[in-house]
Amino acid sequence: MQILSRVPLTYTFKLFSERKDVLVFVTTRLGGSSQNHLASCNIGFNMEESAEITVANRRNICNALGIDFEKTTFQQQVHEDYISIVDLKNAGSGLLQKENALPHSDAMITTEKNITIFAQAADCVPIAIYDTKQKVAAVVHAGWRGTVKKIAQKTAIKMIQEFNCSPNNMLVGIGPSIGRCCYEVGPDVIDSINQNFADTSKIIQQHGNSVHLDLWEANKCQLIEIEIPESNIEIAQECTKCNAHLYYSSRNDNGRSGRFGIGITLL
Ligand SMILES: [Zn+2]
Repeated sequence: MQILSRVPLTYTFKLFSERKDVLVFVTTRLGGSSQNHLASCNIGFNMEESAEITVANRRNICNALGIDFEKTTFQQQVHEDYISIVDLKNAGSGLLQKENALPHSDAMITTEKNITIFAQAADCVPIAIYDTKQKVAAVVHAGWRGTVKKIAQKTAIKMIQEFNCSPNNMLVGIGPSIGRCCYEVGPDVIDSINQNFADTSKIIQQHGNSVHLDLWEANKCQLIEIEIPESNIEIAQECTKCNAHLYYSSRNDNGRSGRFGIGITLL
């Protein structure tokens, strides 16, 4: 990961760092105005913080990155596999209030320049996908449920079927999330993984008496399954719980955490 802006602190992937046609950014919890357990750059609306502070953090990130604040678009994430299309008509949804975020949506696709689509996370996996030839951008929010439903794969397939994208031209950044190191799962999750993945050898691992899930590999595998080249996929390799000073982690904060996330903007 490479630093994009220092205040607020944001990163990008090596895969995207030199590109002039797209901006992909990962936000952190540093450099904002949120207080106490939400400190300091929470970008998710939260009952424990006034919306003005959350919106100010969002605005400061946009200003630091030189992107159009008014066209930054948010969704109401529900751990399902519904995908929204964002254009000039619905750009900016959910920016100032939670209620008008794109409903019932865990992924967004846009072909429109200067619209930023943003996926929020705090242990779930935020993912950015970009087709370098068709100039189509997507973000995905994938917790274990979305990962099992293969929302990242479904989003890429929608880009291929409806927007003429090609797996060979797709670049993928898999952002910080709870890592295999910290993600112990129970039998229900293990069953779902076994039912939905042909080869689970890289996805599920025994750690002593417990079983750990690797969400990064599970999302990477489902993208390789549809022939996105492995070399086109970059994993941030940062566990949110191990790096709770840098990212929000729902598990580390007992569910009372703020949100960071991944944004993508066509330039
Ligand atoms: Zn960890």
